[in-house]
Amino acid sequence: MALELVVMGAASATPTSNQYTTSQLLKMREHYFLIDCGEGTQKQLRRSKIKFSRINHIFISHLHGDHFFGLVGLLSSFHLLGRTTPLTVYGPPKLKDLILAQFRASGTFTSYPIHFAVTQHKVPQVLLETDDYTISSFPLKHRIATTGFLFEEKEQQRKLNKPVADAYGVPVCDYHWIKDGKDWTSEEGQLVPNKELTFDPPAPLRYAFASDTMYTHDTATYIQGVDLLYHESTFCEDKAKRAQETMHSTAKEAAIVAKEAGATHLLLGHFSARYRDFGQFKEEALEWFDSVWLAKELHSYRLSSKGLKVESLTTSPSDEK
Ligand SMILES: [Zn+2]
Ligand SMILES: [Zn+2]
Repeated sequence: MALELVVMGAASATPTSNQYTTSQLLKMREHYFLIDCGEGTQKQLRRSKIKFSRINHIFISHLHGDHFFGLVGLLSSFHLLGRTTPLTVYGPPKLKDLILAQFRASGTFTSYPIHFAVTQHKVPQVLLETDDYTISSFPLKHRIATTGFLFEEKEQQRKLNKPVADAYGVPVCDYHWIKDGKDWTSEEGQLVPNKELTFDPPAPLRYAFASDTMYTHDTATYIQGVDLLYHESTFCEDKAKRAQETMHSTAKEAAIVAKEAGATHLLLGHFSARYRDFGQFKEEALEWFDSVWLAKELHSYRLSSKGLKVESLTTSPSDEK
């Protein structure tokens, strides 16, 4: 089982001629989640060949424009495309008012129901839980109310080793219990341990999105042991003072959070346009953490038990059907 993150925008503040502001699409067990929606997200979704209709949940970290100015346009396009499936938008309290004010002023209505779920930024909060996954928000430390998001797969059932089950004569009606981890006893009283009848399922994966924030040790406490951590790194150490003033992080600080969280991989993004070469971010982070990656637009980051595989979506076809 793999978890795939598509980066659509990794710049901070303003879009430039060749860079988009924050937006990511997470694919987790066939479910699609849009995380932040900077200006131009629609275009980037198109370029990534991601079907709009697959998105039923959108997560907005905070109300700085570089994280949600693309949202009203996307919601409007969903309507123009004839969407009828309900959509849930998770975000700060004022998001609903902002979006509805724009809809009212322009006489826009939507062909589908939108549910606005309010995030609160003081304590972690479970936003959505199914048999497959749990999605929570966690507080960040920024100039306005901001949350990160933690996406966690749930443990799957064990996989049946059918040839062995058949050899013991296990009836189909007992498969359910065996997949749940129970041992099996034959009619003759022979006990067969579960380990013999099943394979381990793939380990569940976890992804954390730490949006705009200054360094705080609290972040690491909310996301302990995460497999992949995206953490903003707006500046390098040469602008550490600026990072402090604007309540952003440096690459080094992002790496320290990754280390404190015991993360496996760190993905850096939200780069300031003041930098031409992002290699400096990676170099500074590598001094503190081993597995550092740069968020690149229209690139896919596929995480599995084998590691992290990065692929450009502009040079290879998307896996979309
Ligand atoms: Zn930002
Ligand atoms: Zn911000």
